[in-house]
Amino acid sequence: MTRAQTLRPERRVRKNSVPPASQSHWTERTSRGIRILQVDALNKLPWVVHGFSTRPGGVSDDHGEKVLKLGFTDWDTRENVLENRRRFQSALGANDLTLVTIKQFHSDVIHVFDTAPPEPCRGDASASRRPGLLLGVQTADCVPILLVDPQTRAVAAVHAGWCGTLQRIVTKTIGRMQMEFGTKPADMLAALGPSIGGCCYEVGTEVASAFHAQFPSASEWFDELRTGDEPNPLQWLNMKPPGHQPPPRGVLLDLRKANRALLLKAGLREKNIFTSDLCTSCRRDLLFSYRKEGALSGRLMSVIGIRPSPA
Ligand SMILES: [Zn+2]
Repeated sequence: MTRAQTLRPERRVRKNSVPPASQSHWTERTSRGIRILQVDALNKLPWVVHGFSTRPGGVSDDHGEKVLKLGFTDWDTRENVLENRRRFQSALGANDLTLVTIKQFHSDVIHVFDTAPPEPCRGDASASRRPGLLLGVQTADCVPILLVDPQTRAVAAVHAGWCGTLQRIVTKTIGRMQMEFGTKPADMLAALGPSIGGCCYEVGTEVASAFHAQFPSASEWFDELRTGDEPNPLQWLNMKPPGHQPPPRGVLLDLRKANRALLLKAGLREKNIFTSDLCTSCRRDLLFSYRKEGALSGRLMSVIGIRPSPA
């Protein structure tokens, strides 16, 4: 049994946050206890199958809770993960597609698949125009990005953490699709799935420096980490001589905003970019967060593929 409902975004609002207008473009599909997030605009393309997994359902055990862990790890059996993947694919209506995952390592390596490789390749994005392949990326805080070119009927799945974002992996994936398939960015649709939000993603100042060195608009993606007991930012009120300011604490990075900016810069239209407002760290009830749960956290999976038979 399958039902769909509109998904509510997290309630937390922060400085510089944009209104969650895009959230109305998202749908939650529930099937046999598994909840999948989908973008309405992608659902309208009958030849595309796509979805972002969430935490509940599945056969893996997490302190007595049954969860849908979709990544192979040392602390979960292979059988559990395979069964979870089967259930996820079944809930998506994608049993007839072959799942193609990649060994992610925070790179800018992109693979174009014509057939499913016998073993997962090392890389952080995959693209294809071949029906029957279900391209997947795994995340637990990083931004999963699904791309569709409705004109040439090509799809891609991208894993963008801060390293991948800094290396412009989404821009390079679009470039590769242009080269391989003749994709025009203005035709493309992009879906940015649940990831750690600017509310929770604390990074070191060296990360901020690296971004500032690469992107002229980087300052729009960072926010100061506030604890409430910061010294007055005006130096003359601090009663400390210059040069004796406390070292800056971490800053908050909004990876979604950064990747949205990269997509716009690549030539996608704003109306064709759909960003989930769900924060993996704020919503542990629904998602997995590496930052929040540590190394034992489960992995979410985001998939996109082309149906084998014409719909
Ligand atoms: Zn958050």
